[in-house]
Formats: sequence, structure tokens, C-alpha cells
Amino acid sequence: KVRTRFAPSPTGYMHIGNLRTALYEYLIAKHDHGDFILRIEDTDQEREVEGAVDMIYKVMDQTGLGYDEGPNKPGEVGPYVQSERLAIYKEYADKLVELGGAHYCFCDEETINKAKEESDNEELGYIDPCKHLSLEEAKQRIANGEKYVVRQTIPSTGITSFEDEVYGHIEVENAGLAEGVLLKSDGYPTYNFANIVDDHLMNITHVVRGNEYLSSTPKYNLIYQAFGWDVPSYIHCPPVMKDEKHKLSKRNGDASYQDLINKGFLNEAILNYIALLGWSPEGEQEIFSLDELIEAFDVKRISKSGAIFDMNKLKWINSQYIKKLDTKQLTELCLPFLKEAYDLSNKSEAWIEKLVEVHRDHISCGEEIVEQVKLFFEDEIHLEEEAIEFMKDEAIPNTLAVFKSKVAELAEEDFKQDQIFACIKATQKEAKARGKMLYMPLRIATTGIMHGPDLAASMELLGKEKVLKRLG
Ligand code: GLU
Repeated sequence: KVRTRFAPSPTGYMHIGNLRTALYEYLIAKHDHGDFILRIEDTDQEREVEGAVDMIYKVMDQTGLGYDEGPNKPGEVGPYVQSERLAIYKEYADKLVELGGAHYCFCDEETINKAKEESDNEELGYIDPCKHLSLEEAKQRIANGEKYVVRQTIPSTGITSFEDEVYGHIEVENAGLAEGVLLKSDGYPTYNFANIVDDHLMNITHVVRGNEYLSSTPKYNLIYQAFGWDVPSYIHCPPVMKDEKHKLSKRNGDASYQDLINKGFLNEAILNYIALLGWSPEGEQEIFSLDELIEAFDVKRISKSGAIFDMNKLKWINSQYIKKLDTKQLTELCLPFLKEAYDLSNKSEAWIEKLVEVHRDHISCGEEIVEQVKLFFEDEIHLEEEAIEFMKDEAIPNTLAVFKSKVAELAEEDFKQDQIFACIKATQKEAKARGKMLYMPLRIATTGIMHGPDLAASMELLGKEKVLKRLG
């Protein structure tokens, strides 16, 4: 049975790259009716951010990428939080030492750093003398209470290779691999060890992660081999880029998943877009529901080269999803932004719904509603130079006057889009104004802008009093 895992470290936010990994793991598992597992990788205590674990649960919840097992969804291979698995790592580290894949090392940090500094290869500069201690002697020193780490033992000759589902055949010379720490003196494992033990014990069949792990994977495979365990399928994903040269990074101020949600992008649209960052479906289709993604997803179509995060493309996709919302949903999306920007206390629910409905095709995310509807909250209108020029046409005063007289005849409760539209039509006949010479003056006079959503609807939103006043 296919089993994938999403293994975020609690850093406080959800990178777009991380979310893409989660999505791909979810799709791979669900495509084959397999299990998707959430595992919290919190072994780097120094990097741990308060509240970050809860944030992961919250984001997983928001995305709707439901996991079958996880910290708050127990399965048979828990615990699913690495800091709760220290005894397991210790047991397997000791086992690995017995099997010859690792050794106990008693060197202090100072010695190690000095050796590295003096060497011309930072990574490999440290040759661990403890490697040659007999196991018996090492155990004696541990029994005597000496501090130690468990360090990987790597053969000095030979080649380690593996097949990556995305990058193909990868091989490295063992001599080029550093003998890194697997278990620290405080009993915490490093990623380099915990990921292997957990992926094995949790029966993970497909490991999906960023390609920054590609070069360390041979090292991990040596550990699998030492244990005699099957190596999982590896799917290393290309980086998500900000531009040709730079990776997308929250630290550099690029958007995280939460940032996008906070701007009023829709979860389904974000997932849809993120799926396309580094993966391409077979046909021309670009809009995919999550179910359609599950159906269509194929690891073979993940690209090797970095995918540039294109905000405009995301906006386009989001606007496709906005089109599909009903009025209530659209209002729900826009309301927080409107509330934040304007005083809505004397606006009716119906008015707000009409306001967002009229602007549906003019926004690509919730946040954009604020700028779009500004004129409905301002008392004065400000004409641009071009509009002022336009209004100099000598036929315009008559057009405005005719329209004003029509509108004035409407009862307050009849000041509605359809009736207003009828007034525009009547003005067309009576004032002999057509097309641009009809709509533009009416629009500029009442709203102050030259282009906007449906004119009659905009006037309804402005209200009879304002419209009459603005018509002079
Ligand atoms: N905890 C690792 C990270 O957040 C996970 C890498 C993996 O998926 O193996 O980068």
C-alpha cells in the first residue's frame, strides 16, 4: 500500500515549497488509495518557534489535505512527533553501531571545529579518530559517563547510487560523503537519522521532498543498507523560485500560504496553482479541483528544473475560482477586507452583497475589493485629467440633464438597476446620445471614473440622493 508522509519542521509558517511537497505527497497517496501521514520533525530545538506546531495543524486543516495518521490522528506507527520518539532513535542508533553503520564518537566540538578549519575541505576535513576505537572500549567509556554522539561510518571507497523518480540515476563516491552526527549527545537525532528510522518504521513507500536533499540521499541509503531495510522510492522536487536565480523564501519576504490566504486567495485556487509549480498535466487543462488533481497526478510529469512562482498566474487561477462562488461565498471572501477598510455600520447586507457581486469580475483576490469599491465610500469624486477633458464636450450638459430628469421621477424604492437602466435607454433616445457619448458622461459624472463595472448597478449602489446631486 502506498504510504507518503509530510514531515514539516515547526518553523512558524508554511512555505509555498513545503505546501507543494505536502500536496504532492497527498496526491501520490490518494491517487493509489494509499495513506498520507503527518509527522512533526521537531528535533532541532534551537529552531523551534512557539506555537508553530499548532500552526501546522491549522494550515493542514485549512488546506483540506486530510491525513490518515498524525499526531492528533493516531495510527499504528506513532508517536508522530519526533521529540516523542527519542527512545526509538537511541535504540536504532545503538543497533546501527552494532551493525557497523555508525560508531560512538567522543571528540569535543572544539577539536572537531579546529580540524575542519585547518583542512581545505570543511565538510570532510574532520577525520574522526573514534572510528577506530573498538566497540568494547567505546562502550566502556560510555559506561564511565563520557559524553558521546553517534556518528555515521562511511566506507572510504566505493560508490553509492540510487534511482530518483524525478532526477534519474544519482551516484556519488563514498569518499566524498561526510560522516555526520546521527544522534547528538543530548539524545536528539539529526534529520539525517530520524528521517530514515521514521520512514522505515512508518512503512513509508514514497519519500517526496525538496531537491536540496538529493545529494545527501546516498548517505541515507548507506544506513538503509546497514540495517538491511528496503529503500523507499524517492521523488525529489525542483525548487520553487522567485525568479531565475533566487529561491522563493519566506525569510526574504516572499509570500507563505498564510500570506496568500490573508490576501483573500482561495484555498482551492492556491492548491491548484501550486500543483502546477513543477508538475504539468498531460492536456491543456489548467483548472483542477483537488479530486481532479488526484486523478491526473503523475510523478513522471514532475519537472527537474525550478518553477518560478508567478503571482499573475495565481491571480488568474484565483479569479477563475471567484467566478464560481455564489454571492454568499463571494461576500464571505470580501467582507473581512471591506470591514477593515470602511465603515459598514449603515450598510445593509443586501447592499454589501450587491456591491461585491457587481465587482466579481474586477477582482482576482479578496483584498482587491478594497481599491475597487473606494468610490462607494467617498463623499467627493475626483476626476482625472482625461475625464475632465472628456467632460468638456458641449453635448454633455444636455445628456446629464435629461438623464437627471428621468431619474428624479423614480420613486426611492424604484431606484434599482433595471429601472436605472431604462432611464439610460430613455436618455439615449431623448438626448440623441449613443455609445460612449451616453455612458461615459453619466459614468464620469456619477462615479468619477472612466471605466468600471455595470453603470446602472453602480448607480443603484450609490443611491438616488448621491446620483442626483452629482448630476448637477
Ligand atoms: N523536516 C524536513 C523539512 O522540513 C522534511 C524533509 C523531508 O520531507 O524529508 O525540510
